[in-house]
Amino acid sequence: MLNPDPETIEIFDLSREELRRILLDFDANKYYLADQIFDWVYKKLLFDFSKMTNIPEKLRAVLSAKFTFSQPEIVFKKFSADGSCKFVMKFGAQKVESVLMRHNYGLSLCVSSQAGCGMGCKFCKTATLGFGRNLTTSEILQQIIFGLISAKKSNLKLRNVVFMGMGEPFHNYENVKKTILILTDPKGLGFSWRNVTVSTVGLINRIKQFFEEKIPSQLAISLNAPTQEKRKQIMPISARFPLEELVETIGIVNLRPRQKIFLEYVLLGGFNTSNEDLSLLIKLLKPIRDRIKVNLIPFNSFEGAIFQRPPTQIIEKWRNELVKNGFTATVRWSKAVDILGGCGQLAGVD
Ligand code: SAH
Repeated sequence: MLNPDPETIEIFDLSREELRRILLDFDANKYYLADQIFDWVYKKLLFDFSKMTNIPEKLRAVLSAKFTFSQPEIVFKKFSADGSCKFVMKFGAQKVESVLMRHNYGLSLCVSSQAGCGMGCKFCKTATLGFGRNLTTSEILQQIIFGLISAKKSNLKLRNVVFMGMGEPFHNYENVKKTILILTDPKGLGFSWRNVTVSTVGLINRIKQFFEEKIPSQLAISLNAPTQEKRKQIMPISARFPLEELVETIGIVNLRPRQKIFLEYVLLGGFNTSNEDLSLLIKLLKPIRDRIKVNLIPFNSFEGAIFQRPPTQIIEKWRNELVKNGFTATVRWSKAVDILGGCGQLAGVD
């Protein structure tokens, strides 16, 4: 929902520090009020000031008039045979999707950072929508809160949040950053940086900024080809941010202790899965081998797709060869593919 009254302030748009500053303008004595509100909202998932019993009643009424808690409008939910669930929601006129994925260790939630996407990758269904708009911090956070509540209802724990839904998170850097700050604030949602992952198409300037600002999150970069010439064919952004420079950047950023950058490689049968592609990839990544983990993603199809998933033997061979060459490499089989909830399948349709 859009904020109905421009004079009111949306709580989910504010970091604890921002909320504290606003509240101090009201009343200079209320230094801990932001912490108290955060506790009710993010620990107890209570979105009603009138029930915040440790806050004086008069003040509760003032807060209710000043601040809003928006909620997403759920257009529909769809369940996958693997226990995952896709939520299509509406923010204003824009439809976006989140996917709650079921793993044996618990749940992870894939959220959208934009409505649509302007990056134009040739193997991704979201690209066919084009760019809609950036989501606000509140709209991203509302997806997470909705996921948390759904997990709780099923008595399951939400372990990971990944920014791998619709959109390019680094194209909406400031809102994604603030969402991560609230997500990892010990007095907010309290996630460890290890359980949060942002995935980017490879915007080098933002990757540098992400490490300079020490954003508390893991980073995934979508590589998807072993040479600049091939990458440009499927990822137009590579013209602006060339592959060699991307790899060089990965080699110099300041990682956290034991941190590795995830490199995503979508296996597109007949396009980037030959033996030559494999040796070129190994050669390209050897200098940064110890700083990365390679995630091979078998292509997920959709209507109108021009690629196919390669045979399973090829997928296994790629992983084995990478491991033999000293890389950490895993195959990421997408969840919820049967309900178009897998990587690259999100387009606001059933
Ligand atoms: N824009 C960001 C966030 C999206 S994450 C990014 O590009 O990283 C989505 C991941 O799914 C990316 O790694 C992308 O390369 C991958 N992907 C896109 N389309 C896919 C498809 N059809 N099958 C499998 N993976 C796909």
